[in-house]
Amino acid sequence: MIKKNPFEEPTLERETAESLSAKLLATTSQLIKANEELKKMEKERSEMLANISHDLRAPITAIRSAVDYLTSGKNLTKEDYDSSLGLIDRRTLFLENLIQDMYYLFCVEDTSKELTLETVPAAAFLEEYFYDAIVDTRYDEYQMHLDIDANILGSIQIDIQKIVRVLDNLFTNAAKYSPKGTDITLKCEPTEDSQFLFVKVIDNGIGIPEENLPQLFNRTYTVSSARTPGSEGGTGLGLSIVKAIIERHQGTVSCESKEGKGSCFSFTLPYIS
Ligand code: ATP
Ligand code: MG
Repeated sequence: MIKKNPFEEPTLERETAESLSAKLLATTSQLIKANEELKKMEKERSEMLANISHDLRAPITAIRSAVDYLTSGKNLTKEDYDSSLGLIDRRTLFLENLIQDMYYLFCVEDTSKELTLETVPAAAFLEEYFYDAIVDTRYDEYQMHLDIDANILGSIQIDIQKIVRVLDNLFTNAAKYSPKGTDITLKCEPTEDSQFLFVKVIDNGIGIPEENLPQLFNRTYTVSSARTPGSEGGTGLGLSIVKAIIERHQGTVSCESKEGKGSCFSFTLPYIS
């Protein structure tokens, strides 16, 4: 009988133990990553709720004060009435827009709600969007350009209404944050690997400070009107809606910008093969 050396390591068992421990390590690191992702989402959600409560409270307080003033029994002039009613009107409209945008964002993010997908030729879709959009009076005082790469031949599968919403949000921002008379360009080209369509909305407007770029598409991020002249009245959810819609189409969003020079907002959409 051959006697087993008790000091010799059982190679096969050791290998199995090593590969098991490597698998365990990989799974643990995946779990840690998933947990961090969940914590991040949880934090974003609670920050958003805090932001929403703040955003709702300010106009409600203003409306309440205006109503108190109107019903105070003081001798009010017609101008006093007009200015208080005007304030109530503006703040109520803001609340309406905020609630609508929040509801829209929740619906887009809810993956149990299916998109209404249609297959459309990419170039024709973007061209049609552009020529429909530029007749809008909001763009009357801008130089609107369309720059479609001749290599855009494929089709995309999209929820048309939602992608139109994306383009509308980017176009209105470009006009809102650019001086009149400047250029706004819709540029489309395939990505280098030809797997995605690259759509860009480029302006020569006020631009965005570098430190604000990382949070730009984050729904907890609202740029105060003090920081961005022209953002008054907006809900600040426009870009979060853009990101949510594009991500549901398996695309990505990004922004390059230089303060005082302009911005380029872009998104990708997968070509259908
Ligand atoms: P809303 O879209 O509800 O009218 P908003 O325009 O303020 O409000 P977003 O569209 O989400 O909200 O944009 C967030 C912020 O990003 C803006 O307030 C503005 O500061 C900045 N921003 C967006 N687009 C541009 C742009 N093209 N040029 C400069 N700043 C921009
Ligand atoms: Mg906007």
